[in-house]
Amino acid sequence: MTFCSKLTAGTPTLSYEFSPPKNPAGWATLYSTLGEISRLSPDFVSVTYGAGGSNRQKTVDLVSRIERELDIESVPHLTCVGHSKEEIREILTTLRSAGIHHLMALRGDAPQHDPSYHPHPDGFAHASDLIEFVRESFDFHIGCAFYPEKHPDAAHIDEDIQWLKHKQECGAQFATSQLFFDNDTFFKFRDKATTAGITFPLIAGILPVTSLSQLQRIGELSGQEIPKKLLDFLGEGTDKEIQEHGIAYATDQCRELLQNGAAGVHLYTFNRAVAAVRISKALRAEGFFPVQKTAK
Ligand SMILES: Cc1cc2nc3c(=O)[nH]c(=O)nc-3n(C[C@H](O)[C@H](O)[C@H](O)COP(=O)(O)OP(=O)(O)OC[C@H]3O[C@@H](n4cnc5c(N)ncnc54)[C@H](O)[C@@H]3O)c2cc1C
Repeated sequence: MTFCSKLTAGTPTLSYEFSPPKNPAGWATLYSTLGEISRLSPDFVSVTYGAGGSNRQKTVDLVSRIERELDIESVPHLTCVGHSKEEIREILTTLRSAGIHHLMALRGDAPQHDPSYHPHPDGFAHASDLIEFVRESFDFHIGCAFYPEKHPDAAHIDEDIQWLKHKQECGAQFATSQLFFDNDTFFKFRDKATTAGITFPLIAGILPVTSLSQLQRIGELSGQEIPKKLLDFLGEGTDKEIQEHGIAYATDQCRELLQNGAAGVHLYTFNRAVAAVRISKALRAEGFFPVQKTAK
């Protein structure tokens, strides 16, 4: 069963996000992590795309290698930042030639020095435009992003939900969430989305916290609210203790999400194996995911 058919059938998926590293040591860590993850029968892995296409070729190479050598369904992310339509067409053609069937279609963010997003003059203003373009000319299974706490550019959560619905109408077939630490925000978002007519599967993006400095950085970068209950749970112990508590918190989050019908759980790994492996094994031991590899 492919991960798409699992999602369609309402069978929850377990997946992982990676990023192309910036240096040789990072690649060694990534390959070791991928080796460990591949033994856990992932439903799919996704690979991020650098702002402005800085690691464009690395994303394409990495997903091709994951599919070819590890036989795992992989989902490259693609953003509109800095790309003309023709450049996007070229990237999509390369991905299809490499045997890639899935795509995470995103707008991307403006560079840090210029916080407002300006589309390429011959490019796309929104992920929905990219999705429409992909649907018209290519045969990809398309995912998109959603934000349980709302995207920072949206004036109101309802507006964000309407644009998510638009992404569905343009041809996206599933959506993966921004990380969040309070499951109630996910459940409330899902209820509102369902009422608004969103029917595609909503996958929950979960970050296992591995250190307080990481958490602080994420809070600053994403504007993500850090709930007091997470801070209390993590405590102020040693790094090792914080990591243990972070894994326990994320496992609890995943368990509750799956018990309440989340379409899947997508673990933000930061290319590290420890937390992702521990959480996956715990969830499998509890019977959430049958140990059976998805076939392509
Ligand atoms: C799961 C996930 C993976 C990600 N991976 C990457 C990555 O690999 N690389 C990277 O650079 N960034 C990545 N991001 C970050 C993402 O690029 C940013 O959050 C970006 O600001 C928004 O991207 P989007 O695709 O959600 O944009 P959009 O869907 O275009 O939404 C952006 C804003 O515009 C509004 N909007 C949407 N459509 C329209 C429309 N048609 N007309 C008017 N307004 C509209 C929305 O409500 C929202 O406020 C990821 C985010 C998530 C949640």
